[in-house]
Amino acid sequence: MVVGDFPIETDTLVIGSGPGGYVAAIRAAQTGQKVTIVEKEYIGGVCLNVGCIPSKAMISVGHRFEEAQHSDEMGIVAKEVSLNFEKAQAFKDSVVKKLTGGVESLLKGNKVEIVRGEAYFVDENTVRIMDADSAQTYKFKNAIIATGSRPVEIPTFKYSERVIDSTGALALKEVPKKLVVIGGGYIGTELGTAYANMGSEVTILEGAPDILAGFEKQMTSIVKKGLKKKGVEVITKASAKGVEESDSGVSVSYEAGGEEKTIDADYVLVTVGRRPNTDEMGLEELNIKMGERGLIEVDKQCRTSIPNIYAIGDIVAGLQLAHKASYEGKIAAEAIAGEKSEVDYLAIPAVCFTDPELASVGLTEEQAKEEGFEVTAAKFPFGANGRALSLNAAEGFVKLVSRKEDGLLLGGQIVGAGASDMVAEIGLAIEAGMTVEDIAMTIHAHPTLAETTMEAAEVALGTPIHIIK
Ligand SMILES: Cc1cc2nc3c(=O)[nH]c(=O)nc-3n(C[C@H](O)[C@H](O)[C@H](O)COP(=O)(O)OP(=O)(O)OC[C@H]3O[C@@H](n4cnc5c(N)ncnc54)[C@H](O)[C@@H]3O)c2cc1C
Repeated sequence: MVVGDFPIETDTLVIGSGPGGYVAAIRAAQTGQKVTIVEKEYIGGVCLNVGCIPSKAMISVGHRFEEAQHSDEMGIVAKEVSLNFEKAQAFKDSVVKKLTGGVESLLKGNKVEIVRGEAYFVDENTVRIMDADSAQTYKFKNAIIATGSRPVEIPTFKYSERVIDSTGALALKEVPKKLVVIGGGYIGTELGTAYANMGSEVTILEGAPDILAGFEKQMTSIVKKGLKKKGVEVITKASAKGVEESDSGVSVSYEAGGEEKTIDADYVLVTVGRRPNTDEMGLEELNIKMGERGLIEVDKQCRTSIPNIYAIGDIVAGLQLAHKASYEGKIAAEAIAGEKSEVDYLAIPAVCFTDPELASVGLTEEQAKEEGFEVTAAKFPFGANGRALSLNAAEGFVKLVSRKEDGLLLGGQIVGAGASDMVAEIGLAIEAGMTVEDIAMTIHAHPTLAETTMEAAEVALGTPIHIIK
């Protein structure tokens, strides 16, 4: 941080270096802008440090450990399988370090100035950037706010050593013998699954009638079957009431089915949503137009009500996902450069890294009908796919939703092994305006899981080869 108070001038000031901010900064630099990025905590934001990446590393650890113990069907019986959790954490940390170091190099390589500190708006062309012992004023022509989100805290579950949020869950020093998860959204279910695979006895308490809202019931029922097999108890319509904490554990009280109950555990993980970081940075004084729940209102170029200030990622409406933040970052940077770029969320994927994985892109069958389309919904099961069987991962299906009159692809849902990667093909096809016939006529390598997408397209056309019509 530069000490002194002569304002430093920059073209574009990006606040926050998560997947929204760092991508926006790089794209802005690519268009010739002089770019400064401000970060108050760690380069890479939530995603790289305490979100997507470390959680996926721990999920992989859980998978390897679980598979090492339960592959007897394939003739593999390991006599002694142990988990060195300290080493597992070190593995996770090494992945994070590689990626965050990589992002820093990319920013530097693109001549983006990195400033450590917390940004606070003074007016619509000025911020003060403060760290523990200094402050610096920056003047900018345009700013992109990408300050992300933080976990919501329930007043009766104050975060502590044993009442933890997702960041705490990723930094544990031991595998909990018993873990209670409050909130069956994708973060709670993913982390609950990872710890169940590592040997924890997990209970998920969810207030709604079902977990993983946003994914179709026919998909989540397969995940719930998998959770049950791992011994994870899912209690829905459950209202978490409070927690008593001791040195060695927690006692969580909740109400379900009209009864008050308690569960004892080593830790309780609270994952009931994330709130945007839009407070405490001077936005009120700027009079930026705010939307619901602290989100900033933006137009299709991610421009706020103040024309030279843009906002992207978790602080604007829509899915709180890394790839959405990055996509919006590129649009905002290009808009500042005078390009005509606009957001189009037609084919934005949503993925959940449970066992098996869930993925959805475009419209679901129900959404397509609500939008007035007459649709064909065609499903092909993983159980009829050679690669899925050879992976011993026969659970799941691909579903394609297309317009009845001409087969235009409107959406796709996948539950099964590799769903997170397979969804890209469906997203590309939607983006390119393709029909189910286009997918059916694309030669897919054999034997691959991706063949299930081709075969679902053939189901839509009424000509499937590997299942009887
Ligand atoms: C456990 C977990 C798992 C997840 N898994 C996935 C996944 O698999 N896939 C997926 O797509 N998404 C996932 N997400 C969500 C994803 O992490 C977020 O959607 C994404 O990080 C949002 O990006 P962002 O750029 O908007 O903000 P963030 O990544 O939150 O970054 C914002 C940055 O701004 C900084 N900042 C805030 N205020 C200031 C200020 N005033 N001055 C300077 N700097 C500031 C913060 O320190 C932070 O580094 C996960 C999240 C969690 C918690």
